[in-house]
Amino acid sequence: AAKDNGRNQFQIFSESMLKETAERLTMEHALRHALGNKELSMHYQPQISLTTGRVTGMEALLRWTHSRLGSISPSQFIPLAEETGLIVPIGEWAFMTACCEGKALRDELDMDLTVSINLSPRQFQQKNLVHVVEHSLSKSGLSPDKLQIEITENMLMVNSEHVLDKLQRMRELGVRISIDDFGTGFCSFSYLLEYQVDRLKIDQSFVKKAGTDANAAAVVRTIIAMSHGLNIKVVAEGVETDEQMRFLLRRKCDEAQGNFIAKPVPQAEFCEVVRRYANSPSSPESEPVSGL
Ligand code: C2E
Ligand code: MG
Ligand code: MG
Ligand code: MG
Repeated sequence: AAKDNGRNQFQIFSESMLKETAERLTMEHALRHALGNKELSMHYQPQISLTTGRVTGMEALLRWTHSRLGSISPSQFIPLAEETGLIVPIGEWAFMTACCEGKALRDELDMDLTVSINLSPRQFQQKNLVHVVEHSLSKSGLSPDKLQIEITENMLMVNSEHVLDKLQRMRELGVRISIDDFGTGFCSFSYLLEYQVDRLKIDQSFVKKAGTDANAAAVVRTIIAMSHGLNIKVVAEGVETDEQMRFLLRRKCDEAQGNFIAKPVPQAEFCEVVRRYANSPSSPESEPVSGL
């Protein structure tokens, strides 16, 4: 019986592995055609100032809708795009699209908005990455100092020429650097200073617990204090509740982004979201409550 069991387990295991492999291959095949079939688009999520309550910028986020597979989350297809190298053409398209659409939104709203775009590790292996950035800026007419690239802190630490040299050249163009998902990696203070980071984005996992969990609250407070000490702006991401928002206001976080404020939307809907926000400025007063 034990032997039978073992075999069944093996069968179940291999069947599920087979299914996973087949799904991966299907998705990989589909992803190869996503760009050509015009299945990709960008959504934009507003970022607001916690001092003025006004929208200060937007993060561009890739969206993929496949005719048969439906909409596939970036957390699924970005890793696949990285492994297969498809992130290079896809990332290039995303960069150009976000610069052009972001510039159009700045013009239409007549607001000084920044455009944030994510760059993943594999994109830094692309020889002409800086050229792609320059080309996107010149073609869109977006001013370099209005562009923020978002990288994760571990990317500063790989200490490889292709990352550091490219970051330096982007900085020389005037492009700003944000550290995404901050607090989850292993970045040291010296890196933050060396690369003249402009913004830190506190990872959602801390923001989510900050209103209720004393340890998470301490992490958020510490990141804010450290950033301010280093003259770096700090953004909280993944704000989902009024409680989290009030905590961030009390702790003098500079900016916030999250579904509580607005979900990522297509370019065509962004203006309406911003106008709605401007008409009902929910700029809650900071209330001195608990120790959090
Ligand atoms: P990220 O850069 O940390 O982006 C923030 C993620 O949090 C986005 O997920 C956004 O939709 C989600 N989010 C925003 N507000 C909330 C909230 O209140 N609650 C929750 N639970 N989530 C919220 P998304 O769009 O699924 O993207 C996932 C990741 O994929 C991004 O994480 C980024 O690392 C990557 N990614 C997205 N677009 C691009 C792109 O154009 N290029 C590259 N290289 N990576 C991208
Ligand atoms: Mg990001
Ligand atoms: Mg993030
Ligand atoms: Mg992320």
